[in-house]
Amino acid sequence: MILMYHHIAPAAAANAVSIAAWQAQMAHVKEAGYPVLALDDYVRKAALGGLGRWDVAITFDDAYRSFAAHALPVLQDLGFPATVFMPVDFAGKNNAWDDGTYPIMDWAELRAVSQAAGVTIGSHGRSHRRLRTLDQPTLREEVHSSKVELENRLGLPVRHFAYPYGQLRDFDRRCRAALVENGYTSGCATVWSRRNGPADLYALHRLEITPADDLPAFAAKLSRSVHPRYFRQSIKNLLFQLHLRR
Ligand SMILES: [Zn+2]
Repeated sequence: MILMYHHIAPAAAANAVSIAAWQAQMAHVKEAGYPVLALDDYVRKAALGGLGRWDVAITFDDAYRSFAAHALPVLQDLGFPATVFMPVDFAGKNNAWDDGTYPIMDWAELRAVSQAAGVTIGSHGRSHRRLRTLDQPTLREEVHSSKVELENRLGLPVRHFAYPYGQLRDFDRRCRAALVENGYTSGCATVWSRRNGPADLYALHRLEITPADDLPAFAAKLSRSVHPRYFRQSIKNLLFQLHLRR
């Protein structure tokens, strides 16, 4: 299963898990003995159909400055790897696609984070737009030039992408093909499931951890193979796919 976080803040708010909740959640992952894998290793196992039921990868979308301040110290204490997805055009700015209140790392901060043990940097595109709505040249710009810029600025290979918004309506086969063509080994969606297999590499399911999750809710998300949210979303996605085929 891949956990998805955004912002970490002193108090829970929209898209922001509180520092205390984050610390308690990671302590739980440690105590419960979940194996936490780097995304490279997770994807390699998924490609072979070899992921264990309890294998975990941790991801952070939008590369907020709070990752360096609040998430990374906890990850390093526990020896957990994690992946941060950077929306390249927003380096050193705020999340203007949303309410614009959360600061995003600048290039120096991202470079420092990228050099920390266990941290992988992935692309979240350039402009945080829904890829499915873009024409071919713009799609290529989002997928290709974001990767090239990250690799040049960080001096590291970039192999993973997270689709902005990441629901089925936000990326399609053409977007997945663009990831393959440009040398990515995976694409993360926001579609809810604990499972990922060889067919999911460019639409990896994730479990969103929300500000409303208390520790029992968090523990249940990780341990239960069925979850009310998963059912609701599955039905929605099924209807969406049926509509597309009509
Ligand atoms: Zn995002």
